[in-house]
Amino acid sequence: MSEPESSPAAAPAKARPTAAAEDYLERIAALIKTKGYARVVDIAAELKISQASVTTMVQRLDADGLVKYEKYRGMVLTDAGEAVAARIAHRHELLTQLLRFFDLPEDVIFRDVEGMEHHISGETLAALERLTRHLEAHPEIVAQLRK
Ligand code: MN
Repeated sequence: MSEPESSPAAAPAKARPTAAAEDYLERIAALIKTKGYARVVDIAAELKISQASVTTMVQRLDADGLVKYEKYRGMVLTDAGEAVAARIAHRHELLTQLLRFFDLPEDVIFRDVEGMEHHISGETLAALERLTRHLEAHPEIVAQLRK
């Protein structure tokens, strides 16, 4: 989960969120989608992290303009946060779809996607998206891969 800290001077204005921040945005978006709201206590339970740690991260996401956090009312995603969360969800779904062609166990797919998704570049994701669309259109190739 930890990433090397880059110096603030070298960081681009719109740096990609860290792996941890991406996990939070992914959870927050999923909670809002299923429950209608996301609270620190729910995120802490899902990520198995202390509420104090969750609060620290949520405040950072708020400072970065991705989340609007009100201490006793929970949080919502800003438009920028929604855009990042949508990108994260798309990436997760695409990688899951690709790995499912190989008929792997769902728990293996989930674990691997949760790791891979944070480290893949936009270029590689675009290439894997083309591969996924190609395999989707050619079930005979998928059958060969599964043998
Ligand atoms: Mn994910």
